[in-house]
Amino acid sequence: MNKVTCNEIKVVYGRQRAFLNGELVGLSCKDCKQLLPLDSFNTHNVCYAGKQTICKGCNKKACAIWQNESPHKVLTSTQNSRAKRHGTKDKLTQDHTKMLLGSAGFRTVEGQKQIRCQLTGVWTSNYDTCHVHPLRAGGNSEYGNIFFSTRQVNALQGNLHLFEWLLTERAQELVLPEFVEWLLIDLSHRNMINVYEMLSNVVGYEDANKLIELYFEQD
Ligand SMILES: [Zn+2]
Repeated sequence: MNKVTCNEIKVVYGRQRAFLNGELVGLSCKDCKQLLPLDSFNTHNVCYAGKQTICKGCNKKACAIWQNESPHKVLTSTQNSRAKRHGTKDKLTQDHTKMLLGSAGFRTVEGQKQIRCQLTGVWTSNYDTCHVHPLRAGGNSEYGNIFFSTRQVNALQGNLHLFEWLLTERAQELVLPEFVEWLLIDLSHRNMINVYEMLSNVVGYEDANKLIELYFEQD
């Protein structure tokens, strides 16, 4: 399959370039060495003919390996490019994402990536990288603004600030108080502010008290 019909092949830097009547119709993949038609390559602005040097199939394999071996690198680059698209600063480092994944219990089970939802305590591979102050509502992708939850919980939070969402009845039904308590303490450390101040800055004193009552173990 993927046979290239051509009447001229040039080898440049060890790679084949196939031409039909002078027009480029195929390239060989740098990884699997197969001669393939141009549409078997993803576009890449700076490479020859605007095509990636490895074919789509090899690229997919390489991505999968990269994701499995370096989940924190993937998280860093996806979050920073998301932040850029939203016009916010991109300051997340790989050390940050390592710690973020660590606090969400990130693990790989039979090739599946899993985290423990930081609001419900559920282990899931169906998770989202979430923002305390959502990007669409003006939040950033900095270390102090990221946590992990199930896709369902993230969808419910929507564009609400996490602290506002935690005040809703739906949130109170779904989350586990001890997990919320732990996340809020973690966030306060990351943002170098005490919990009460952190909460009241967003929802005001009355609701900050309410959140403490709801989610913190009282003596
Ligand atoms: Zn290939």
